[in-house]
Amino acid sequence: MLLLTRRRVLILIGVLAVLAVVLVGVGRWLNANKVGGQGPAEPFRIAGNFYYVGATDVAAFLITGPEGHVVLDGGYPTTARLIMASIAKLGFDIKDVKVLLNSEPHPDHGGGLTVLQQASGAQLWASDASADSLAAGGDDPDGILPLRALFWIGVVGYPPPRVDHRFKDGDTIRVGPIALTAHVTGGHTRGCTSWSFPVRDGERTLNVVSACDLGVLATSRYPEQGADRERSIRVLRGLPADIWVTCHARWWGRYRKFVASAAAKNPVDPFIDPEGYRAFLDAAEAELRSGHMH
Ligand SMILES: [Zn+2]
Repeated sequence: MLLLTRRRVLILIGVLAVLAVVLVGVGRWLNANKVGGQGPAEPFRIAGNFYYVGATDVAAFLITGPEGHVVLDGGYPTTARLIMASIAKLGFDIKDVKVLLNSEPHPDHGGGLTVLQQASGAQLWASDASADSLAAGGDDPDGILPLRALFWIGVVGYPPPRVDHRFKDGDTIRVGPIALTAHVTGGHTRGCTSWSFPVRDGERTLNVVSACDLGVLATSRYPEQGADRERSIRVLRGLPADIWVTCHARWWGRYRKFVASAAAKNPVDPFIDPEGYRAFLDAAEAELRSGHMH
C-alpha cells in the first residue's frame, strides 16, 4: 500500500514537472513571438534599389525594378499596413510588387504576407518546409505539441497566404533584372531561407546578404537541427557580404546605421559592414557551441 502511494506521488511529481517544462517553453515561445518590435519606423534607401520598409525591429525589405518589385518578409498580420504605408511613402506602388519572399514562417515574419499578397496580387515563393508552414498559417510540424495545439485552436497563427512556387536551395528568383539567390539555411526552422543578391549603387556593385535567424527556440526542435545550424553558419560564412541584414532589424543595427547614413558623405557607406556580418556569425556559432536556446 505504502509502495503504491509512493509510486503515485512520484508519478504525480513527474507529470507536474513535465507540465512545468511545457508551460515554461510555451511561455518563452509566446514571449519571443509577442507582437513587439513593430513600432513605426521611417522607410529608407539602404543602397541602390534596396530599401527598408519594416518596423522598428520586425524587418521587411523592398527591392525595386523596372519590371516589378520584390518584398522580403511581411511582419505580423498587423505590420502589413505599416509596410504598405512605407512602400507608398518611398513613392512605389504596392500593385507593382510582383514577388513576395520570406525568411521564415513564424508569425513575426510570415504573418503579414497574406495582407501584402491580397493588396499586390504578388506571387509568393518559399522553400518546401516554409511553404508547408506558411500554408498552415504558421503551424510547424517541428513545434512541440502544446504549441501546435494553440495554432489548431487559433490562439496563435495567421491567415495563410497562397504559396505559388517552391524553390530549392541555390535557386535564383528573378523579376526583370532583379535576381535573388535562395540559400536554405535551416536551424531556426527547417526551411529558414537566407538570400544573397547584388545591388548596383552608382559605379559599384555591392553584395547583399539577408541572413536567416540562426538561434533555436525551445519549442521548435527537430533531429537534424544541430547539423543544419552547423551547415548554415558555414554556408553564410561563404557568402560575400558588403551589406548584411536579418529579419530582426536590431541585430544588424538598423537605427544606428540609419542615423549614421543621414550624416554620412555617402549615405550608403554606413551600411557597408562585413565586420558586423562576421561578428553576427561568430555570435551564432558561440551560441551553437554553448547550447543556448531562446
Ligand atoms: Zn522565428
